[in-house]
Amino acid sequence: MNPTNESAGQRRLECPFAKLHPSQLVKDDTHFMALAFNQAVEAWRIDEVPIGAVIVKDGAVIAAAHNAVESLNDPTAHAEILAITQAARHIGNWRLNECTLYVTKEPCPMCAGATIMSRLGRVVYAWGDPKMGCMGGATATHELPKLNHRVSVTRGVMEEECRSILQAYFAMKRAFAKSDAPASEDPAQEAP
Ligand SMILES: [Zn+2]
Repeated sequence: MNPTNESAGQRRLECPFAKLHPSQLVKDDTHFMALAFNQAVEAWRIDEVPIGAVIVKDGAVIAAAHNAVESLNDPTAHAEILAITQAARHIGNWRLNECTLYVTKEPCPMCAGATIMSRLGRVVYAWGDPKMGCMGGATATHELPKLNHRVSVTRGVMEEECRSILQAYFAMKRAFAKSDAPASEDPAQEAP
């Protein structure tokens, strides 16, 4: 066994981003996005693509999740899907009209669809994904003309921080690509 590869494997898991400690006094979009960012940090720490999400109802966080595709070996285990499931279970209702989803990256086709199917009232995302984003980036699924549910969308909250952690993760993955397999070949999870 090559010790360099061993140490490389260990360094690969280290996340250079610290968790944030948003003020408890002002619970605005930035506050909740900071909590989603912290979920992304958690994802990196277990070598998952660092995307995080929280769902808020009546000013309280009722769900928090991060991408878990690798650890669950489940291509549907995106942060948004896991958080939506948690939230529905928490309130005992699959209709999330009164809830807001905060997510660090624009939802992919699957997750954008899930926000509509779960009747989410509002989606706030940080970084817009021009390749796979389906809430304004590559396309706008939520604006299909015949939808019977309208999701309100806000974009760009903490965009720089949330894009930076994704870009840094994939840069690190590329740096270690020779000694390990890439985290994901799924274009839905590729960095910009
Ligand atoms: Zn997704």
